[in-house]
Amino acid sequence: MKFTTHEVTNQSRPLQGVNLFLANQPLRDALALFAPNLDTARLQCLGAEVGGAELQTHARLANTHTPVLHSHDSVGRRIDEVEFHPSYHALMARALHHGLHGTPWRGGPLSQVERAAGFMLFTEVESSVLCPVSMSYAVTPALRSNPALHAAWGPKLAAQEYDPRFMPMADKTAVTMGMGMTEKQGGSDVRANTTRAEREGVDAWGERYRITGHKWFFSAPMCDAFLVLAQAPAGLSCFFLPRWLPDHTLNAIHIQRLKHKLGNHANASSEVEFHGAEAWLVGEEGRGVPQILAMGALTRLDCALGTAGLMRQALSLALHHTAQRQAFGKRLIEQPLMKNVLADLALESEAATALALRLALAVDRTEHGAAAQEAAPRDEGREAVMRRLLTPVAKFWVCKRGSAFAQEAMECLGGNGYVEAAGEGVMARIYREMPLNSIWEGAANIMALDLLRALRGADVAAALNLELAPSRGAHPALDRSAAAVLHQIDHADITEPQARRLARDVALVLQAALLHRQSPTAVFAAFCESRLGAASDIFGLLGAGHDLDTIIQRAMPWEP
Ligand SMILES: Cc1cc2nc3c(=O)[nH]c(=O)nc-3n(C[C@H](O)[C@H](O)[C@H](O)COP(=O)(O)OP(=O)(O)OC[C@H]3O[C@@H](n4cnc5c(N)ncnc54)[C@H](O)[C@@H]3O)c2cc1C
Repeated sequence: MKFTTHEVTNQSRPLQGVNLFLANQPLRDALALFAPNLDTARLQCLGAEVGGAELQTHARLANTHTPVLHSHDSVGRRIDEVEFHPSYHALMARALHHGLHGTPWRGGPLSQVERAAGFMLFTEVESSVLCPVSMSYAVTPALRSNPALHAAWGPKLAAQEYDPRFMPMADKTAVTMGMGMTEKQGGSDVRANTTRAEREGVDAWGERYRITGHKWFFSAPMCDAFLVLAQAPAGLSCFFLPRWLPDHTLNAIHIQRLKHKLGNHANASSEVEFHGAEAWLVGEEGRGVPQILAMGALTRLDCALGTAGLMRQALSLALHHTAQRQAFGKRLIEQPLMKNVLADLALESEAATALALRLALAVDRTEHGAAAQEAAPRDEGREAVMRRLLTPVAKFWVCKRGSAFAQEAMECLGGNGYVEAAGEGVMARIYREMPLNSIWEGAANIMALDLLRALRGADVAAALNLELAPSRGAHPALDRSAAAVLHQIDHADITEPQARRLARDVALVLQAALLHRQSPTAVFAAFCESRLGAASDIFGLLGAGHDLDTIIQRAMPWEP
């Protein structure tokens, strides 16, 4: 019997089989600026994988078959295990194989900048598995404060393998780590933590405590260990909390339930209780907040990188679709008003990539990484100031722009953009994921307030002034905005209600200056004229006279 009523035409093919590194000219230009001698062979290899059908299928399956908590076994014993779909494990294995976690700390050839570019690329296939990857990356500088723990766990944290087996660290080839700060009564204000720590003794891993209390958000609970905050006699302190104890028994970490989240479906985020769980002090008692923020600062970098990656993915999908879909006698990408929208999205995506990578370079230069050695020698003190400034600014602005960006990119696909179609509608997944990077690891207001704190430190105006110097005179709007921002910072006349505005302004002048150094004039000029001094509220408001075709052509997800 024949049911055919029509032929399917004018629908776009999936974006597949493209090397997402080679096809990303803005990313390659940013790398040429920040790491001119970088051998991009590894990124090319990753770009081919993330653009291929196999990982895309894993991403769909891992988001459709979401994690399941098994709190007890069949006879009622607690097991506190989360079961993941095999595709989740396949994605984790690829991310760790490509060294997107702890490898830069190992002192090998993988610089912070290269790892950052890889992290962005991986986001273009699946971002929720990057939660435990990011935490495993970020933990090392904080963990170094307990040399015994760092010696024992560091090598397996940096191993380019994935070992998902739920067993003690000693029996595993590789481990991952997470973090637990947020409690019911306070997340941003962790001073409100009530979880308490009682000292028990000393052993090979240092000062041992018993932890009693809870965490309201505890992502990736199948990680092998966590850094957590708890109240010790001298105040809030940072502790290392393993799932398994050295004597091969399970630690008393009870997973209460998994969160039902808007997006981020492949990743498990849990609520937990600690019933006298054993943990080891990291750093000094009473210095828990700065100690764990050594980790938080790096996960904030990854929030900016992750959002830049998601923007690029959404832009690529929008460009790919509109290049195929016809409406009113032309391909959508040829319609003048659609060109304005696509070009505007392309500007935003390129600027986000540049700013996030600049922060990664500052991390590299202050950690003596590989990129630092190959680039022209820089004043490390100035880079430390830039890192302190850029962390809240990039996390704030790039992540805040993400949701609006995803909405506009989705609209380029029309109704198809809004439909999940059994997990195949990637744009809807991106849209649900976008707000998360803005909320976790310090929501936007917290970032803006952190910027004010950064301004109270070393001479930020001097560092920013030097950073902007190569672009002085390049565009009158940039000169005006840069002068205004520097004046505000110099005179320290910013009050809390104005902190978001300043964070935006700093981000925009830095983005413009970076585009001046890495992008064609068409991109730089359109960015300055649309963003500096005249904030546009939606995308697609570029003024007349811009070279939209050049901007779009540069952004196309096509291999050269
Ligand atoms: C999916 C998911 C996974 C997570 N995983 C983890 C995890 O693994 N580990 C972990 O520790 N946490 C985790 N979190 C928690 C996350 O980091 C917190 O939700 C976040 O830091 C905000 O804290 P809160 O929810 O308590 O909100 P609140 O602290 O109550 O903040 C609410 C709002 O108030 C604003 N605000 C707070 N203080 C001020 C102020 N002084 N001035 C102006 N505005 C202010 C904030 O910016 C925010 O917009 C996760 C969250 C999500 C959504």
